[in-house]
Amino acid sequence: MAKSIMQKNKECYLCRKQAARSGYYGPLSTAGLEQHHIMHGTANRKISEKYGLKVWLCIRHHREGPEAVHVNRNIDLELIKDGQRKFEELHSRDEWMSAFMKNYL
Ligand SMILES: [Zn+2]
Ligand SMILES: [Zn+2]
Repeated sequence: MAKSIMQKNKECYLCRKQAARSGYYGPLSTAGLEQHHIMHGTANRKISEKYGLKVWLCIRHHREGPEAVHVNRNIDLELIKDGQRKFEELHSRDEWMSAFMKNYL
């Protein structure tokens, strides 16, 4: 399995973003974390895995509740944009386009 290019620690990516916004950088709960591929869907998931475009999410941010990526398209897009930015730091726009066919930025 490829390493995530999105995060170093095993913690919820979105809980960490929220915490950072309120100035908290201490430890977060690691209970019940699930792995989420930034670009999901059958074909994209494989490419996501290859490039390490994946994050850990808590259940509330993954599948259940109004702020879950698989429920809330805005949150989904926020992660996709973060993913594309990170990808382009390491690769290029051209490579992104040939992998995913669409520019989200
Ligand atoms: Zn979370
Ligand atoms: Zn997911």
